Amino acid sequence: MAKYVYFFGGGKAEGKSEMKNLLGGKGANLAEMANLGLPVPPGFTITTEVCTLYYRNKGKYPAELKKQVEDNLKKTERIMSRAVRGVLLGKKFGDPKDPLLVSVRSGARASMPGMMETILNVGLAPSTIPGLIARTSNPRFVYDAYRRLIMMYSDVVMEKAAGIEPAGEQGIRKQLEAIMHGMKEKKGVKLDTELSADDLKELAGQFKARVLKVLGKPFPDEPMDQLWGSVSAVFQSWNGRRAVEYRRIERIPDEWGTAVTVQTMVFGNTGENSATGVGFTRDPATGRNIFYGEWLPNAQGEDVVAGIRTPLPVNEAGKTAQTKALTSLEKAMPAAYRQLNAIQRRLEKHYRDMLDIEFTIEEGRLFMLQCRVGKRNGVAAVKIAVDMGHEKLIKPEEAVLRVKADALVQCLLPMVDPKAERESKPLAKGLPAGPGGAHGMVVFTADEAARRGKELGEKVILVRTETSPEDVHGMHAAQAILTAKGGMTSHAALVARGWGKCCIVGCSDIAVDMDRKVLKASGKEIPEGAWITLNGTSGTVYEGKLPLVDPDLRHNKDLRQFMKWVDGFRKLGVRTNADTPQDARKALEFGAEGIGLFRTEHMFYGEGADRPLFLLRKMIASSTLEERRKALDELYPFMKADIKATMEAMQGHPVTIRTLDPPLHEFVPKDPARLEELARALGISMDELQKRAEGLHETNPMMGHRGVRLGVTYPEVTEYQVRAILESAAELALDKKVRNVLPEIMIPVTCAKSELDDQKKIIDRVVEEVKAKYKLKKLDYLIGTMIELPRAALTAGQMAETAEFFSFGTNDLTQMTFGFSRDDIGSFVPEYLKKKLLPEDPFQSLDQEGVGQLIRMGIERGRSTRPKLKVGICGEHGGDYESVKFCHRVGMNYVSCSPFRVPIARLAAAHAALEEKKSK
Ligand code: PEP
Ligand code: MG
Repeated sequence: MAKYVYFFGGGKAEGKSEMKNLLGGKGANLAEMANLGLPVPPGFTITTEVCTLYYRNKGKYPAELKKQVEDNLKKTERIMSRAVRGVLLGKKFGDPKDPLLVSVRSGARASMPGMMETILNVGLAPSTIPGLIARTSNPRFVYDAYRRLIMMYSDVVMEKAAGIEPAGEQGIRKQLEAIMHGMKEKKGVKLDTELSADDLKELAGQFKARVLKVLGKPFPDEPMDQLWGSVSAVFQSWNGRRAVEYRRIERIPDEWGTAVTVQTMVFGNTGENSATGVGFTRDPATGRNIFYGEWLPNAQGEDVVAGIRTPLPVNEAGKTAQTKALTSLEKAMPAAYRQLNAIQRRLEKHYRDMLDIEFTIEEGRLFMLQCRVGKRNGVAAVKIAVDMGHEKLIKPEEAVLRVKADALVQCLLPMVDPKAERESKPLAKGLPAGPGGAHGMVVFTADEAARRGKELGEKVILVRTETSPEDVHGMHAAQAILTAKGGMTSHAALVARGWGKCCIVGCSDIAVDMDRKVLKASGKEIPEGAWITLNGTSGTVYEGKLPLVDPDLRHNKDLRQFMKWVDGFRKLGVRTNADTPQDARKALEFGAEGIGLFRTEHMFYGEGADRPLFLLRKMIASSTLEERRKALDELYPFMKADIKATMEAMQGHPVTIRTLDPPLHEFVPKDPARLEELARALGISMDELQKRAEGLHETNPMMGHRGVRLGVTYPEVTEYQVRAILESAAELALDKKVRNVLPEIMIPVTCAKSELDDQKKIIDRVVEEVKAKYKLKKLDYLIGTMIELPRAALTAGQMAETAEFFSFGTNDLTQMTFGFSRDDIGSFVPEYLKKKLLPEDPFQSLDQEGVGQLIRMGIERGRSTRPKLKVGICGEHGGDYESVKFCHRVGMNYVSCSPFRVPIARLAAAHAALEEKKSK
């Protein structure tokens, strides 16, 4: 018979932590904790398989399920009968004398914090209320639990799962909250806890009447009906709006499904001797090795994670400037804290990772409700991996594999310019829930954040009173999130942290006026649309738009150690695409080992390029060799200075310099004043210039007069460039400014060996001339080619007879293989992605299936001619995580990418090498 239900409790369990696919993360880890003998309230998990069957069979369960659930409920009851403080009590689900209450919780394979439903206090009904009051002697607590059950159940089971979509604020939960608010006003009290047992009893009656009126059905009084209703609702919540949205963002497959865990309730809200809380075995915002957590006395778990009450720090070590005056659990309940602290240590050792735990203290007695690998931001991920490596909890290779590319990206995130910060007065201070800096325009709803942030591409900051998982789409579209309430462990903070988003929560200095759409802070009113800036690392909010700057890696000692380990494992070299000394220096700082692509044409773009651009235009508009040489003579000092400065900045690391590539007409001015200036300089009429410019016009420039074709038609262009390269190298070597100067001359857009031979003749001639000029016996250099046309890959065997190295130009190779113009994909590739005709934009992530074949073939054929052929890549894919791993697998020597992507490429290369080692 198929097994659909797995039991845990009483010091053992049928499941274990490796069974996440079947039991979900929560179920598997509860089983593991039970097996470790930790105080876990007993219960059972219904597998994810049931979820799949439930959807496949249109909401029907497999026939065996009912009995399996009943049997496991009996087992749970038996354990509870033995467990309660040494007194043998016959706790039973639905029992009028001593009722067992349960929670019904979701739990998918991958953690989806707050995205699905939970129902607490299931089993409380008119028939069981008197029994529970008799057992606890606490009617207030019992009626409070009952009103919570009605609120959750009517919202989750009777409304959401039933597919009733109320308009905005009119949901049943809001209506019940309004009734409760009315009751508090009537009684003249502020806090929920100030309502008496009788008030709450009356409230429950009012709630039930409203549920019947609004939803057209009575609230179920039968505990078994409540249980099955809750189980179905949890399965239904797998397809709720926020769960679907979250899965889409996190790329979690829809087929996985959720498990449902039914677990004995323990109560953190029976009085001041009870509490509930959540914690992390290390600080998830910084990675610091301290037990970090939050708690609330006399509360249920939802009060902490829902972000409604700002919780207290769990211990003294985790206190911040904002929380230093608050009472810690360590001080308030020292014995329970000691036990909790010992358990969290033990769990971290057992799992060998930073964990996120949930606990409840009922009448001074500690229970563990959950543990899972904790979400952390990138900075913390690196620190934790490095620390755990040093602590010998994990090996360096495990540490390297644990840090994902996204986490590393977060370490390179912009931060608020420290100088601007020093000069500005903070508007407010809150809890630093997600690091880095961000600026944006204030918006107050998630829908508005999604509209302006995603659809209009504006920078917005989502400002809310409290954090809510309902806002997930808006949070994703916003640059940052700011909330007045909530703690570091509220769901929204967890989610933001997982994405590496700048986030400040619990910012009690601010107030949000939703009616007037203003943010109030420091006596000021900030309207919607006004700019604010957030420093998520310190939790500081500023008015206005403060500049952001890139972080300086040299100051992050953990990152330096981490990258050292990374470099120890990787086999692939990592170079950079850089065309200026500044870029070159930045890339060296990021760990580049050379330049894989210096695009000579870039000296004609941007600031300070006016004069060289003018001279280039003169060269382009020349009609005779003589005119062209004259222009090139004038241009020469600029070309050489540019190349020499970058080569010097690279301090002897190899530098690949590519000869001129783009179609020349790109440089013809459009502005009449500039055209006139050019005509004057060339001493020709405007008509003549117009004619020459028209002559350069092409129908299909990407496949036109560009790349090596320029060098074939204008050999003097190659000649001057090669001279600039070799003279720079000679001078740097003679001046002893740089040791081991080795320029690599690269010819672009080739499709035949004959083209290379043609260019090589020019190069050989210039080499001799430069040697003679500087009286050198020897001048080291390499000649290579880009492989960016299918024909070049197909004839790579011949190309390698002349070329000493290959560099795959996968931007063009993708363009030419797909026949997709790289400049025009905007009009159709998004539709391809939406329709899933392509898994990914092939210009961002290498098409390993198609273009990849040409690369494999090119390398194989090239190396069959020249076994030591050096092979790299310099298209955009050289900095894409998955593409870099592919480059490792096909045996390239190096990848080359923009300076900021160098660390990602290094990490990807190490991951690829370690994965290969594992698979052997
Ligand atoms: C390429 O085509 O991949 C390449 C690096 O060259 P460019 O992008 O300059 O055409
Ligand atoms: Mg190219």
